[in-house]
Amino acid sequence: HLSKRLAAVADFVPDGARMADIGSDHAYLPANLLLNKHISFAIAGEVAPGPLANVETEIQRHRLSDVLMPRLANGLAAIKTSDLIDTVVIAGMGGRLICQILTDGELDKFRYHRLVLQPNIDTDLVRAWLAENSYHLVDEAVVADDGHYYEILVAEPGNVTYSLQELKFGPYNLTEPSPAWLEKWQREVVRIRHIMNKLESAGQTESEAYQEYGKEVQTIMEAIA
Ligand code: SAM
Repeated sequence: HLSKRLAAVADFVPDGARMADIGSDHAYLPANLLLNKHISFAIAGEVAPGPLANVETEIQRHRLSDVLMPRLANGLAAIKTSDLIDTVVIAGMGGRLICQILTDGELDKFRYHRLVLQPNIDTDLVRAWLAENSYHLVDEAVVADDGHYYEILVAEPGNVTYSLQELKFGPYNLTEPSPAWLEKWQREVVRIRHIMNKLESAGQTESEAYQEYGKEVQTIMEAIA
């Protein structure tokens, strides 16, 4: 049984994919997709021995050793050409780390059919990385799970340029706003207005911080209008 967050990531893995889950920890995602026969083969990559032991436990528990390969490796070094991987998932990390893994893996040279990325923060940096390295978004999602809003980016090879607004909010989120995406940014407006109220009480409406918060609220309101 997957968390709401991982279930949403799983939705974007194509049927029959040969998938690499980088930073797999318990390998819940590939195990679930293999047991439900959505996919036929997966790599579970881990940089740390502790999480790799979790992967191995999950493989044995479900007798998946023929179809789920545990690999101790940094990022995309877990993938061999002979694996014929077409879909790469990187979920549950910061956007900066995801960009680092993509850069180190020379994803600008190795083209995968699909990337499914779920940055916990700094989603804008990941969108920018994709556009700079000839991947374009083909879908996006936001899921509310356990008090957090998680963004999912789905990318495939292709050239694109995004505006600053698209980098921050997501081109698909902007054109097809989902309730969770709206909620995420509405909550952010509430959070910032709360800070602004405090600054007002302290007589700091002329401060640079107050002005910046005001601009941020305006930027968000324009995006979710
Ligand atoms: N992907 C799972 C999920 O979304 O639930 C697990 C996320 S867990 C918070 C992040 C995992 O990424 C950790 O187990 C960590 O060891 C692994 N990790 C961090 N940097 C990595 C790298 N460069 N290569 C492979 N795994 C990495």
